[in-house]
Amino acid sequence: MRRVMREVMSTMNWMIMALLAVTMTAVAQQPASAPQPVAATQAEQTAAQPSAAPSGQAQPAQSQPPQAQASLAPPTTMDQVVDRVIMRENDLIKFLSPRTPIVETYLQNLTQDPQLGPIPQDDHYFLGRMDLSDSIDRSDYLQEKGKGEGEGMEKRLLGGLTKRFKFQYQPLGFSWMIFADRNDFDRQHYNFHYARREFLGDVRCLVFDLTPKKDAGRGRFLGRIWIEDQDFSIVRLNGTYAHASRNSYYYHMDSWRLNLIPGYWVPAYIYSEEGDFTAGAKNKIAFKAQTRMWGYNLKAGTANDELTNIRVDSVKDDTPTAQDATPLAAEREWQQLAEDNVLERLERAGLLAPAGDVDKILQTVVNNIEITNNIELPRPVRTRVLTTSPLETFSVGNTIVVSRGLIDVLPDEGSLAMVLSHELAHIVLGHNLGSQFAFSDRMLFSDEGTYQNLGFKHIPEEEAAADKKAVEMLKASPYAQKLDSAGLFIKALQKRAPQLSALLQAHLGNNITENGTVTRMAQLANSAPALDWNKLDQIAALPLGGRVKLNPWDDRVEIVKAQPVAITSARDKMPFEVTPFFPRLSRYSAVSTPAATTAAAPTATATTADASPTPTN
Ligand SMILES: [Zn+2]
Repeated sequence: MRRVMREVMSTMNWMIMALLAVTMTAVAQQPASAPQPVAATQAEQTAAQPSAAPSGQAQPAQSQPPQAQASLAPPTTMDQVVDRVIMRENDLIKFLSPRTPIVETYLQNLTQDPQLGPIPQDDHYFLGRMDLSDSIDRSDYLQEKGKGEGEGMEKRLLGGLTKRFKFQYQPLGFSWMIFADRNDFDRQHYNFHYARREFLGDVRCLVFDLTPKKDAGRGRFLGRIWIEDQDFSIVRLNGTYAHASRNSYYYHMDSWRLNLIPGYWVPAYIYSEEGDFTAGAKNKIAFKAQTRMWGYNLKAGTANDELTNIRVDSVKDDTPTAQDATPLAAEREWQQLAEDNVLERLERAGLLAPAGDVDKILQTVVNNIEITNNIELPRPVRTRVLTTSPLETFSVGNTIVVSRGLIDVLPDEGSLAMVLSHELAHIVLGHNLGSQFAFSDRMLFSDEGTYQNLGFKHIPEEEAAADKKAVEMLKASPYAQKLDSAGLFIKALQKRAPQLSALLQAHLGNNITENGTVTRMAQLANSAPALDWNKLDQIAALPLGGRVKLNPWDDRVEIVKAQPVAITSARDKMPFEVTPFFPRLSRYSAVSTPAATTAAAPTATATTADASPTPTN
């Protein structure tokens, strides 16, 4: 099955080379200048070398479950610690090899603003599925665009190359750093220098500096690793790769792992940043990027799998009467079927979080609007969270879907009410979409084909009608007095919209902006106060990543509980911006279900409280 899956994925793979680099010239297209994927047989040989785990006790543990390793005697020398680290890293690589997590990278190129410091100039978005089997491979959810985003940056970097070499940011480059070295993480290739002990969150760590040996070849990790001191797993990597050739350029990255299942720390976040704006350096590249991984526990879904994996549930008719549905009841059931199909399919593709606590918060806001407007619908309105960053919403049947990124940047409940009221208006006005998805054949597509096969866009007339109805409902709701903040959010978005076309590109619903101008709920900006960056208590929009935390293992979302940090200057506001990650690390604890001991199906989530990258008010 794994073989089939990989073949399917590789046919869809638009990027063959495992380049880690910002490619600067055509010469750099030669894989020789980058970390090279090693053929499967070679990789196995390397992993099987006794020297990778020289101690007699460590050797057999490689094929044992992590529980067994816990019984290994604690290492007594630094050499033994290093052996254990190498063994654990190879265990992780093996453990993750059948998995195909989702990887999302959102990147902002920066420009210098005299008052605000570096601000976004333009942006890029990548979303794909990683195949971690032999090397690190990926296939994309997004179709390659014809037009070159960030053309100026590209020309500077590539020196005017032909279109064939246009992809200057290799999406794979950002995901490479989930491991220090996929193929050769051992003493033959690296020097390990113990630096110190340090706590990351609740976890006590040993810190090592890693340098490649002299003849280790190109594309080797150079930097620092943090090792938790119980099982000796790597929990954080910070550095770059060496040696860069004249033709290629390696990103600097800070890569974090979370202990979401017993025995393993899985790669979760990578922050990348390059360039600076110090005097004389203004022509250098400058960008910030966040890479998130999730969906580790997703089935590697292909049409083949679906057809062989037939589910037969016990079928019991639980309708109250033993009669056929009336035409109206049938119509409603049909809509419900389409809605359920779509939500299930999106969840299976890793694009929709399972129903959870964040939904309850959104649903409360929807209820507040409904009750005060005397809205009664035949079926209750539900809400769900899209796992992705681009700012978008849509509704299918009676379910409103809001993206994680949009919830992140909304400053308060009033602005959340604005977002939800627009979709609620579509439902109230009967702008039903998606009944075609009641036909099951329309759900049979690969995960990577989701954006090509599903879509919930309204015509402009319906968009205008929904805005009008939404404003009407908001004015009769408990949020009537809180619409200033909603209007300010629109104004802030308008200010940044021309630079954030990738963040504002909706993939399933309608765009919030049109050609760099905010169209959605734009009338609310008219009554809002003036946008003033210098007013420190005026928070019109938040940075990305400050509100919603996505569990990379099971895709659940929760609201981040973090202490607000005081804003001391206009630079601290960072609306819609990318910031570094600083998750508060903690060990896995099976608090909710003791049964969650198998690595395959954990139901408990780790209790990590992240440092907020942002001041929230
Ligand atoms: Zn709409």
